[in-house]
Amino acid sequence: MNGVKLRGIGMTSQRTRTRMVQRLLEQGISNQRVLDIVGSTPRHIFLDEALAHRAYEDSALPIGHNQTLSQPYIVARMTELLLAEGPLSRVLEVGTGSGYQTVVLAQLVKQVFSVERIRPLQEKARSRLSLLELYNVQLKHADGGFGWADKGPFDGILSAAAPRQVPEELMAQLAVGGRMVIPVGCEDVQSLMLITRHEDGYEQQVVEKVRFVPLVNGVLR
Ligand code: SAH
Repeated sequence: MNGVKLRGIGMTSQRTRTRMVQRLLEQGISNQRVLDIVGSTPRHIFLDEALAHRAYEDSALPIGHNQTLSQPYIVARMTELLLAEGPLSRVLEVGTGSGYQTVVLAQLVKQVFSVERIRPLQEKARSRLSLLELYNVQLKHADGGFGWADKGPFDGILSAAAPRQVPEELMAQLAVGGRMVIPVGCEDVQSLMLITRHEDGYEQQVVEKVRFVPLVNGVLR
């Protein structure tokens, strides 16, 4: 049962996934490990069944509670940016959402710590992680704008929700040598930022224009 669900058929098959990887290559994603993992991860199980046939389109898709599963290109791009200087061991993710980005990361880094403010989304993500038998992920129901201080510092931080300004706590929880990939700005216009922490301070680079859901304060049960 799980086997068929995970492998997919028709619009959710491996062939469809391979076509998606081909598109990512054309869009400039070049990290082969990222392409391999995106190509082998069943994105359709992160959506409700009625939407599963659209899982391998290059678009963001609704996951309920006004939130979206990020576009494959963005997931691949952010992951590639995070991993660009070599392997990472502790990564903080802000905004677990469906858990798709979490699962991609979990297959590429040692440990993932992911925070989500909407409880029902977190619970669904948790069941997908166990379906995929990934055990190097810890989830927390909290406001991710505060990071996860007990588990830091992190050598990677990835946010799937956009604050107007990068929260101080996230800056503080980035290890020296660590990298943070985060969309920053108001609802209509945001810049994807790459922030690197050096011994003597932070370096900030604008990568490209993006559109994410906003980082919202507080938690929802
Ligand atoms: N990578 C996820 C993206 C989900 S959308 C996916 O592909 O499914 C962004 C997520 O960030 C939403 O689930 C939203 O609830 C969450 N979010 C927004 N503000 C947050 C906050 N302050 N703390 C934790 N999660 C937050």
